[in-house]
Amino acid sequence: MLVEQIWTGNNGRNFNYLVACSETGEALAIDPLDHEKCLARAKAKGWNITQILNTHEHRDHTGGNDQVIAATHAKLLAHHSAKIDGVDRGLKAGDVIKIGKTAELECLDTPGHTMAHICVRSHGDHPALFCGDTLFNAGAGNCHNGGHPSELYNTFSQQLARLPENTLIYPGHDYIANNLRFTLNREPDNAKAKEMLPSMEQQNTDRALVTTLALEREINTFFRLSSPSVIAALREAFPDLPENPDQRTVFLKLRELRNKW
Ligand SMILES: [Zn+2]
Ligand SMILES: [Zn+2]
Repeated sequence: MLVEQIWTGNNGRNFNYLVACSETGEALAIDPLDHEKCLARAKAKGWNITQILNTHEHRDHTGGNDQVIAATHAKLLAHHSAKIDGVDRGLKAGDVIKIGKTAELECLDTPGHTMAHICVRSHGDHPALFCGDTLFNAGAGNCHNGGHPSELYNTFSQQLARLPENTLIYPGHDYIANNLRFTLNREPDNAKAKEMLPSMEQQNTDRALVTTLALEREINTFFRLSSPSVIAALREAFPDLPENPDQRTVFLKLRELRNKW
């Protein structure tokens, strides 16, 4: 399976993706907002985009569909209940997307950022997760536009946290520098986040760092729900919190603070 991460350079800091079969050159475009860059990259690689996946219905993920379909006649795939025009295939948890002969992605139904959000994962020696606006590098999606924080917690704890530790994380936006600042705001003694922040503030987004789930567990507050310093700082912000709050409560309070941060 071949992966191209495409930096759009827009204000929303979106990443688009192409996932291709190494034998046939057939490709899946994930959230191809910047249709010109996606089509140009496919052409440069000698790939044919035959399918488009929208992780969810927000315009910054669906906005390039029409142009890519006009240029390639690709089929459009999305969550079965996502409100997106022209979907050819509605996806459910466990569905498999085949790309050419050699690439295969499994669908995860991952509500929280919106209630019709699909993440896809590959298996094998180098597992990968394309996670839209559910999981970001060092952060979590917001729930302002059709989502629900409690569902987002369920998705994190019951699905994302159980993936293999070496899973490569491919999110829908580049927010890593700001998210590391939030991690350090919540957990000032997080050595790994402190070490990474200066280089991430200057990273070349055309060759962005691809994290793993193992690294996310170190730098992403939303995976650090039992950290004593996260809990201690949270109890300063919310004096009513018990000494040992449950993980759901910690997650929801962190999400609440991140909304205002
Ligand atoms: Zn979104
Ligand atoms: Zn987005």
